[in-house]
Amino acid sequence: MSAAVIDGKQFAATLRARIADYAATFEQSAGRKAGLAVVLVGEDPASQVYVKSKGKATLECGMNSFEYKLPIDCDEATLLARIEALNADEAVDGILVQLPLPGHLDEQTVIAAINPDKDVDGFHVTNAGRLAVGQPGFVPCTPLGCVMLLKDRLGSLSGLDAVVIGRSNIVGKPMAQLLLAESCTVTIAHSRTKDLAEVVARADIVVAAVGRPEMVKGSWIKPGATVIDVGINRLPPAEGESKGRLVGDVDYAEAAAVAGAITPVPGGVGPMTIAVLLRNALVAAHRNAGVALADGAL
Ligand code: NAD
Repeated sequence: MSAAVIDGKQFAATLRARIADYAATFEQSAGRKAGLAVVLVGEDPASQVYVKSKGKATLECGMNSFEYKLPIDCDEATLLARIEALNADEAVDGILVQLPLPGHLDEQTVIAAINPDKDVDGFHVTNAGRLAVGQPGFVPCTPLGCVMLLKDRLGSLSGLDAVVIGRSNIVGKPMAQLLLAESCTVTIAHSRTKDLAEVVARADIVVAAVGRPEMVKGSWIKPGATVIDVGINRLPPAEGESKGRLVGDVDYAEAAAVAGAITPVPGGVGPMTIAVLLRNALVAAHRNAGVALADGAL
């Protein structure tokens, strides 16, 4: 058996086209564009690439993009003042502070300063709480993207056994909450889990968010299961290569021989993250401007 490939790149492109349509309608109704602000502290090369692609994608969808670059030695008061100004700015619907921050800045303090109704990353404790109790809020982009891919592939997830490997605040925990909200029977596995292979073997849905290259083996996967690989790991360069290959947390070749469907790395979950960020920003714009948006429209 060979698994169907879940094409996140294609799904994200379709979602972005829909966002662009809704962004244009929003502009007509609200008399202004939706706006997303990104704050970058320091010059981490990977963060610079992310921020640049977020800005480009925001503009391509017909929204305003505001970028604020602060020096690496920026103190907490300066960063918090910037966030306060963005909280108060009516042209800004969503605020994202690019993580990781330099070590002298406390991420929790900084995230706590963002107005939860502009927290399009969904990292504020208010939004984590809203997700936990089933109130509307903002959900972290990567796990929300994973659920979109799962529902597109499987339709209803109700009653399915789901195993999430990883318990980070950014991926694993919100992923588990989202699957619970879809009425899955959810197990969260992590670095202290005993016999991970046996836990994974029960799952109709496996979500791997660990950060360990090709850790999940094909022999662990229940035949026909749907596998969502969140991991992005770069292998050391092989001989003659300048850069190593990108791989996920799942041994793709092995798992694809057993699973019913699987996301590739790259081209699976990765492209969904920015698309869902734009989606969250546009949802925030509708809420902030009091413009109606049909449930499930985006
Ligand atoms: P993290 O380091 O915060 O969390 C990793 C989790 O894996 C921890 O909860 C830990 O308990 C668990 N873990 C570690 N070793 C384990 C083991 N041997 N067995 C079982 N569980 C183990 O990482 P994160 O931020 O959640 O990211 C996870 C991966 O997803 C990384 O590869 C990251 O690059 C990737 N990621 C991708 C996207 C995307 O857009 N596709 C977004 C976020 C993260």
